[in-house]
Amino acid sequence: MASTTTTTPTTIDKTKPYFPLAGLATDGWSTEDEATATCFCGAVQLSFPTHGPGFVGSFVCNCSDCHKLTASIHATNFTVYDTHLKHLRGQENLKTFGQSRTVFFKTPGQDNTMTNYFCNTCGSLMYRVGAAFPGMSILRVGSVDDFSLHETKLRPTMEQFTKDRPSWKLPTEGATQFVEDGLHV
Ligand SMILES: [Zn+2]
Ligand SMILES: [Zn+2]
Repeated sequence: MASTTTTTPTTIDKTKPYFPLAGLATDGWSTEDEATATCFCGAVQLSFPTHGPGFVGSFVCNCSDCHKLTASIHATNFTVYDTHLKHLRGQENLKTFGQSRTVFFKTPGQDNTMTNYFCNTCGSLMYRVGAAFPGMSILRVGSVDDFSLHETKLRPTMEQFTKDRPSWKLPTEGATQFVEDGLHV
């Protein structure tokens, strides 16, 4: 085995803002009240509130949509009201794909369309908008540039669709568990 001379610390102080190398953008930021989310190539950048009236909550989702959309079994999401979501750049570079065969049923017979907004250049999924979730957008914790927020303000408080969670994945510590949809209870 080759010896390593790396001096990278194995633990990071995430009580402070932390912006590791993550794609091409280098201009992500966070303040006491807001932060950015940027796609992998940097073309699309959003800002959103990290608390307060515009911020709804953060959750882990094991639903079948999230299995496929992330190609990685689950997603860590957070929801903000559209009135508080800002497109800093690249809104014209967002492509959409929507369809109504989704596990998120509000009322039988009502529109269940979920629409994905993703970067047309790099494919990063930036948010989803659902007919069953009017007035809000569901963003991805993993696209948030300040990684310290993943542990603090954006830490999931809820986990849903545990019925489809693989047996090797532990319940998210501190998150209220829901067997199915926890967003409409
Ligand atoms: Zn991109
Ligand atoms: Zn999901």
